[in-house]
Amino acid sequence: MTTSPADRATELRQLLHRYAHEYYVLDTPTVPDAEYDRLYRELEAIEVAHPELKTPDSPTLRVGGAILPQFEPVTHAVPMLSIRTETDTTADGALAFDASVRRELGLAESDPPVNYAAELKFDGLAINLRYENGVLVQAATRGDGATGEDVTQNIRTIRQIPLRLDSVGAVPGILEVRGEVYMRRDDFEKLNARQRERGDKTFVNPRNTAAGAVRQLDPAMAAERPLSFFAYGLGEVVGWDDMPLTHSGLLDALAGFGFPVCVERVVAQGGDGLVAFHHQIGAKRDTLPFDIDGVVYKVDSLNLQRELGFRTREPRWAVAHKYPAQEALTTVEAINVQVGRTGAITPVARLAPVFVGGVTVTNATLHNEDEVRRKDVRVGDTVIVRRAGDVIPEVVGVVLERRPMEDVPGGDLFNPVQQPKYTPFELPKTCPVCGSHVVREEGEAIARCSGGLFCSAQRKEAIRHFAGRRMMDIEGLGERYIDNLVELDYVHGIADLYKLTLEDFLEMKRRGDERDGITPETVLAGKVTTKWAENLLAGIDASKKPLLARFMFALGIRHVGESTAKTLSDWLGSVAVIRRTPEALLRVLPDIGGAVAESIADFFDEPKNQQALDALLAAGVVPQDEHAPSAKLRDKLDIATLYAALGVPKLTETRSRQLAEAVPSLAALAAIDSASAIGLPADVAESLLGWLDQPGHREHLLTLDALRTELLAAMPAQSAAEGILAGKTLVLTGTLPTLSRDDATAMIEAAGGKVSGSVSKKTHYVVAGEAAGSKLAKAEELGIPVLDEDGLRALLG
Ligand code: NAD
Repeated sequence: MTTSPADRATELRQLLHRYAHEYYVLDTPTVPDAEYDRLYRELEAIEVAHPELKTPDSPTLRVGGAILPQFEPVTHAVPMLSIRTETDTTADGALAFDASVRRELGLAESDPPVNYAAELKFDGLAINLRYENGVLVQAATRGDGATGEDVTQNIRTIRQIPLRLDSVGAVPGILEVRGEVYMRRDDFEKLNARQRERGDKTFVNPRNTAAGAVRQLDPAMAAERPLSFFAYGLGEVVGWDDMPLTHSGLLDALAGFGFPVCVERVVAQGGDGLVAFHHQIGAKRDTLPFDIDGVVYKVDSLNLQRELGFRTREPRWAVAHKYPAQEALTTVEAINVQVGRTGAITPVARLAPVFVGGVTVTNATLHNEDEVRRKDVRVGDTVIVRRAGDVIPEVVGVVLERRPMEDVPGGDLFNPVQQPKYTPFELPKTCPVCGSHVVREEGEAIARCSGGLFCSAQRKEAIRHFAGRRMMDIEGLGERYIDNLVELDYVHGIADLYKLTLEDFLEMKRRGDERDGITPETVLAGKVTTKWAENLLAGIDASKKPLLARFMFALGIRHVGESTAKTLSDWLGSVAVIRRTPEALLRVLPDIGGAVAESIADFFDEPKNQQALDALLAAGVVPQDEHAPSAKLRDKLDIATLYAALGVPKLTETRSRQLAEAVPSLAALAAIDSASAIGLPADVAESLLGWLDQPGHREHLLTLDALRTELLAAMPAQSAAEGILAGKTLVLTGTLPTLSRDDATAMIEAAGGKVSGSVSKKTHYVVAGEAAGSKLAKAEELGIPVLDEDGLRALLG
């Protein structure tokens, strides 16, 4: 059954009315602009073919939408019209406009080209700003073109809009400036990132966010949204004596009054000039800091504009020439998750290919679990995908009315009972790449794979981090080699790096080149280059003696940066101790908070991480500065301090001290089973008993007790502050054969010494390497002992 044009026109009008209402009045469109434009063109075509079907309320005859009753209506002195849209996104669109202007003006082919002011079409909300004697008295939306909404209070919060004009003496008595309120892309992304962090609903796109902010009832809320403004035209003008005669001249004058006017504009000559502009802006579109949906061409001469005049809802002298849309409709074929750098699990929609923002998109991010739930994106759904600038494509919304449904029992032929065919998305419990469990910490929006070094998706990033300059500093192990090592299966765990041979590298390179279809010149010449591989092997070998702190940093434990790694190294002294230190003990170390302690303990609780660490040690990686636990630790191992660090609810520091008097050891606490033995107020005692009865907690106390005893026994009598170099100042100069300056400094400081930048009488030793300069000369002059690297090592014992 085919629909008659009359029925289709009615249907289209209804749809377009609804969409326009959602877009203009509610600022929450449910379909992309391209979809609206498509239906609009279809209706236009029907009305052209069947003029009798035109109705006075057709969307093709009207501008924009109705106004919200909450705002005071404003009657525009000069109507705010629409602009005809040229949807042919090729150069022909511009040529067609030029041809129609020339036809309307009755120009012959031999007449000179028409000049056009070519500008960007900003994607925001049109505003009319009324200035009386140079002072802003009213700001209004376009509304239905004849009547808009008074939004003066909100507009005043936009800092780019002048409240008073520059050179007031020269400004017209009445000046209405028209322009676009918009939101920059970075401001929009920041706003959404904040919403996401707070677990709040995210905004769909900058246009609707800007429009929503301007049409906010609470100016304080509007002020919170970072809005911007560009002026592009005029409304009513009274008393402008030397008013320019061209549109481009008007824009210059507006800039002179203090309005922001976009610099991306030209005066183009004829159709060819327009084509060049369309092309030039198209190439730049992604790098502009704000969204545009096209460019606008306006006949530059105001006299010619007058001659051309208007159609019902638009001038004949202007056209909007669009670019491919940045939002489009497509369907979701599947929802997968991707494992990122830190194990972050990101749901990704696999889409039926769709051309959006100038590229074909097949995947779009859904950000995180909460966001998928909030948007309720499901397999089979028709969704709006947005790709603007170089921001990764995202699903901004679902067109619910197109959700696939299926009949379920309970209905009959006339009243079927239906339900969605697909269920809501659920995040997998285990990592799809490595099978480790997925964890989501409280208060975090992001879930993560706990596989760490074991997970192959994380492996590349883990290796990249491990080899980094401030970590193991493996020279020459660049991005491409890492990718190939993982992709071609040479490295599973980080420790495999240390098993690689020259042959492996050469083979890897050959296979990589083959896969990428590359034939290097050297291969063509029948040569095999090996130098790079030898260097790489040497680099890997040289990394086998790291400082403990760098090694701990290199493992990529979440929340463990350089300074936490140094704390672990300074206080605990060895891999053997660090890897089995329970959370409570980590928590008593300086600057290690609850979340960090938990993350370190979690890392070492994962057997796969312990195995990876074993493999590294077995491969010959031995930190060069391991030492006994620091004597500073003695105070921290005090029983009351450890009790307070257990994380037992209500067990404050004071209560912990009381508890330590009644129950003087961790082992004794592990054996407690009645409140009477605890000597604490009933509620605290109850909380403690509850904690003790949770699985693993009593064992945890016994482990902690054993480690405490061991650490106390291993601890040197003297503290690091009284280390071998305590009170001594050293100066480093030149390049040492194996130690970097950072490493040497760390070793000296660990022994209690100080490193200074200049040599004086107070310097105790100068450590000199190759190409040492004036500092060495100064040391010799002052008679200060000079050491080489071996000498330094000997001094440190
Ligand atoms: P329009 O296409 O008629 O253009 C006029 C508007 O362009 C002006 O009001 C102004 O706001 C803006 N503009 C930006 N830069 C300009 C410049 N340099 N010079 C002059 N004007 C400039 O705009 P319209 O009538 O507001 O709306 C049509 C657009 O809205 C279409 O793109 C359509 O897809 C979209 N729309 C979408 C839906 C939906 O449901 N998604 C519904 C209705 C309309």
